[in-house]
This record gives sequence, structure tokens and C-alpha cells, in this order.
Amino acid sequence: MRVVSGIKPTGNLHLGNYLGAIKQWVGMQAQIEAAGGESMYFIADLHGLTEWIEPRALHANTFEIAAAMIASGIDPKRSILFNQTRVPAHSELSWLLNNVARVGWLNRMTQFKDKAGKNREGASVGLYDYPVLMAADVLLYSATHVPVGEDQKQHLELARDIAAKFNQDYDVELLVQPEPLVSKAAPRIMSLRDATQKMSKSNPSDAARINLIDDDDAIAQKFRKAKTDPEPLGEKLDDLKDRPEAKNLVTIFAALADRTTDDVVAEYAGQGFGAFKPALADLAVAKLGPIRDEMVRLTADRPAVDAILREGSNRAATLAAPLLRRVQETMGLLV
Ligand code: ATP
Ligand code: MG
Repeated sequence: MRVVSGIKPTGNLHLGNYLGAIKQWVGMQAQIEAAGGESMYFIADLHGLTEWIEPRALHANTFEIAAAMIASGIDPKRSILFNQTRVPAHSELSWLLNNVARVGWLNRMTQFKDKAGKNREGASVGLYDYPVLMAADVLLYSATHVPVGEDQKQHLELARDIAAKFNQDYDVELLVQPEPLVSKAAPRIMSLRDATQKMSKSNPSDAARINLIDDDDAIAQKFRKAKTDPEPLGEKLDDLKDRPEAKNLVTIFAALADRTTDDVVAEYAGQGFGAFKPALADLAVAKLGPIRDEMVRLTADRPAVDAILREGSNRAATLAAPLLRRVQETMGLLV
């Protein structure tokens, strides 16, 4: 079992990234280890280039994300933690796979359509080609499982299609088709201002998300001001199905407390948000405060984080080299 997953250093790392991705990875680390497997987590800095980003911001975010992962419990001794750029095999395999993937396949990718919007002609080629680099990211290590959110399922399916076509075209059994690992426990966290939208890095409103770097006051204040309704909480989760804001806050509470949503609703049944929000704010400060403090400490020690990423990149490069070479040879390239 080999698990590979990445996160883009595009800024404002938030509670959704933590509960929906990083915390899940931390939980899996021990399970994968117990199963004799290996976990690899990388900062997808090359994917970060597909939409314009200030070079200084990209650089700083790379350190911030590495710090967040370590502070949250990704242990660089137990998992391989690295950044994509330092393993050039990602880019090299990506070019080779560009010749396997079909234009028609990429044309069907909904994330490109969403992100490019009306300005398709003005979108970067990188944004269009992003799924092929993502395929390279996982096929390079013969990943067996890839933790993905809903938004990445289509891309993983493409990676599987690319692997299958490569194997068929060259009549080999070389590329492994990875399985998606969709954690049932991974919650989808919504914006605090509009619960019909997901909490995201790119939302211009800072009040819509809890940033992992927020101080205790900011965390408490954002929960206090979170949009809700005047109704008290019902008796069970089902009572909240038409109240997305209320449901979102309960989901966050349960995920932070490692409890079920039903359990949380039962505890606060009949109470209004005047009581629930301060409890949520206290819980969030208690859980996120120590992570933030460690993040701040690590971010201030860039050489230490840099050394961890370099060490992880060396390990990843060693794992990547034989597969890249076999792909090159299979395709007839002189290596
Ligand atoms: P962007 O708005 O730039 O796409 P993002 O907030 O969606 O940023 P990504 O880097 O695309 O962040 O995603 C990193 C990881 O966090 C992915 O595994 C994704 O599924 C997860 N994730 C992102 N937003 C949420 C959310 N609101 N709730 C749960 N998981 C999330
Ligand atoms: Mg996203």
C-alpha cells in the first residue's frame, strides 16, 4: 500500500484544508504504517503556478504549508514530506504522459471549466494540463491509494485512464491504477458567510474562513459572527437539513471534537446559537491554537523546514527514479 497526496501552496490555509485533508492524512499515517505501507505527502508547488501567484507568496506559502503539515502531526520520519519541484521526475513523467492523454479527455474536466470560467482562451496551458501533472504525481510512485476530495475524483479517474492506455499502447504492465480513498469521515466545510459555498483559500472574504494562522481572538470572533438563524438546534441532525449554516457549525464542532454530529446535536438540543457558538469558539481555540503556535514557530525557522523538505525530496527522488527510467525505455527513449 502506498498513499500519495498533495496540497497546493496557494495561500490562506484554512479549517477546511485541515479537517478535510491534513487531519485525515495524520489519521491515516498510523494505519498505513501498521499495514506495512508508505505515505507520501507533497506540496504541489508546480500546480500552484497554474493560476497567477506572486513569486514571494508562492515561496512563503510553501514554508507555511510544510509547517502546517508538521504542526498538525505529519511526521517526516514516518511519512515522506517533500515539494514537487525538488523531484524533477514529476515534470519529466508529466511530459511523457502528455503524449498518452487525449485532448478529448482533458476537455471533459470540470475543474478546468470552473476555474477558467468565461476566459478559456486566456487560461494558462498549465491550468488545462494540470490533470496530467497530477496523474504523473501519483503514477510515478505506483501509488495504490490516493486520498481525494470530491473535487479531485474526476482527475484521479483520468490518471487511471492514462495508466491503462499507456499499458495497452506499449503492451506492458507498468503503471499502477490507483484507487481513490474517499474518507467517509472527511467533512466538507462550508463558508462561514454563505454555507452554500465551500470554505476556500480563494474566497476574497477573510471572515468566511478560519485560517490556520488566525490568532485566538480572530477564531472566536469569526465564529461569533458566523451566519446562522435564530432557531434553536433541533433534536437530531436531520432537523438541520434545510439549515446549511447550522449544519456547518455542527459539522465543524463534531470534526474538531472527534465526535459524531448526532452526538453534538443531542448535547445542544433545544439550545440557541448564543450558547453553541461560544462553546464552538472555545473548542476551536483549544484544538487549533497549539497547531498555530507550532506553525508560527516552524515558519520562523525556515532552514529547519527547508532541510526536512530536502530530505523528503531526496527520498522521493530515489523512489521515483526506477519507474521514470522504465517508462522512458518502454517508450524508446535513449536514457
Ligand atoms: P482553491 O480555492 O485555491 O482551490 P482550496 O481551499 O480548495 O483552494 P486545495 O489546495 O484545492 O484548497 O485543496 C487542498 C485539500 O483540501 C484537498 O484535499 C481538498 O479536497 C481539501 N479541501 C479544500 N477545501 C475544503 C473544504 N472546504 N472542506 C473540506 N476539505 C477541503
Ligand atoms: Mg480546490
